[in-house]
Amino acid sequence: MSALCSSPKLVILGAPGAGKGTQAALLAEKLNTPHLSTGDILREEVRKGTELGKRAQEYMDRGDLVPDDIIIGAMNERLKEAGGSTSNGFILDGFPRTLEQAKALSSAVQLDLVFLVKLSQDEVVRRLSARRVCERCGRNYNLLFNPPQEEGRCDLCGAALASRVDDSPEVIRRRYQLHRKQSKGVEDFYREQGILQEIEGDQPIAEIHQAILDTLND
Ligand code: AMP
Repeated sequence: MSALCSSPKLVILGAPGAGKGTQAALLAEKLNTPHLSTGDILREEVRKGTELGKRAQEYMDRGDLVPDDIIIGAMNERLKEAGGSTSNGFILDGFPRTLEQAKALSSAVQLDLVFLVKLSQDEVVRRLSARRVCERCGRNYNLLFNPPQEEGRCDLCGAALASRVDDSPEVIRRRYQLHRKQSKGVEDFYREQGILQEIEGDQPIAEIHQAILDTLND
């Protein structure tokens, strides 16, 4: 594995449902690097009923983006905890989602690579409609390609599985449109720096994972 791989600072971009979270989790395990998902962080804050969670929830339920000042402040804290300003690596999933966030991130840390997982709107709706999340531990499943062993129950803790509030078809479409509008600026920002790597998201999970590892090894 190349030097880059020992403690890389990586971002995974892509539409909701493109598989960012799945790839980030696989990569985090492989590289033994922290995986920071803004969606998971925010949902945890909502579950705990914190001030941040209360401020974020209404935006999340509607499928809107949480305002930049709220999310940038929260991520700066998490990056410090993960050693973002030192030599430790991390994998960001769901952040940055706006050019403002990308600029704030680049003033805090120097990224090594940014992966963009690409997927069409139809496939996004199909996948997210089949997503289920454990109500207790937050583990994700997908009825299409990663179903639980027992229908409607979490493999890990046995609690009930449910659809996310923001995975209804109309909210999914809203999130996708918002993503299209916001993501171009972020992608161009990294393209201009020569660190953007594009990957087709309509492939098996293991193949996308391998493509990411191959790029890191180059
Ligand atoms: P996700 O699990 O990544 O789909 O995120 C779920 C929701 O959390 C999004 O629809 C937004 O409301 C919010 N969220 C997550 N990441 C961000 C971000 N970087 N900026 C603003 N809102 C975010």
